[in-house]
Amino acid sequence: LVEISGVHKSYGANEVLHDISLRVEPGQVVSLLGPSGSGKSTLLRAINHLETIDGGAITIDGEYIGYERRGGKLHELHEKYVLERRTRVGMVFQNFNLFPHLTALENIIEAPIGLKRAGRREAIAQAEVLLQRVGLADRADHYPRQLSGGQQQRVAIARALALEPDVLLFDEPTSALDPELVAEVLRVIRDLAHSGTTLIIVTHEIGFAAEVSDHVVFLDAGRVIEAGTPQQVLRAPEQARTQEFLDWVI
Ligand code: ATP
Ligand code: MG
Repeated sequence: LVEISGVHKSYGANEVLHDISLRVEPGQVVSLLGPSGSGKSTLLRAINHLETIDGGAITIDGEYIGYERRGGKLHELHEKYVLERRTRVGMVFQNFNLFPHLTALENIIEAPIGLKRAGRREAIAQAEVLLQRVGLADRADHYPRQLSGGQQQRVAIARALALEPDVLLFDEPTSALDPELVAEVLRVIRDLAHSGTTLIIVTHEIGFAAEVSDHVVFLDAGRVIEAGTPQQVLRAPEQARTQEFLDWVI
């Protein structure tokens, strides 16, 4: 369970997240939509504690990722304590962010071995299963530059899954891809959604969001403007701002 309550975040005078609250139950798929600059990436990064927050709290199964509560206040944890907790959250970025000097398989086993979660043989066996799952069993020894964007993104998904996170965050996972490569990545995400993985997805693929999401949240200028089922938010939005956005992206 991911619980975001009353989160605020500013960069200088620019308030980019204003009183954001959101619950994501285990196995749920939640999509975050909103125009450029609305705070979607900042919110995702805050869940992972790649960004600090100025107010409110974010917990995963009741635990803070980058903070601890002392004397009724949240204090930021030292980086070395953050690392282990952060592995509860997997993240897939727009630009894949694979290690260029490592093969697909090496990219996947790096974290489980580095964090001493697994021995090398065990990590390799798991990576092979994950590569199979994303349809890349025959690409284990390829370097990122030898893979298409869609294949790189599928390796990135396998890498994120290797630490068996409680929740997987996707930040516009298909927006850097050529149109013909989008479907293969969406297929993998759809499989994850159907297999009960908890997902929070930032996407402009409205049709896909409508199909896989249990819950859709529309953000604008750092505020939740509208939230509900895909049917409510995407088919019959109550807020003019949501409708304007949908008219613009579809
Ligand atoms: P996009 O759809 O373009 O990815 P977004 O919804 O993900 O947009 P964010 O990247 O979260 O938006 O940015 C929200 C706001 O925070 C923007 O006004 C942005 O300029 C600002 N911002 C983001 N990162 C920083 C930073 N490191 N320093 C200062 N301002 C930032
Ligand atoms: Mg963004």
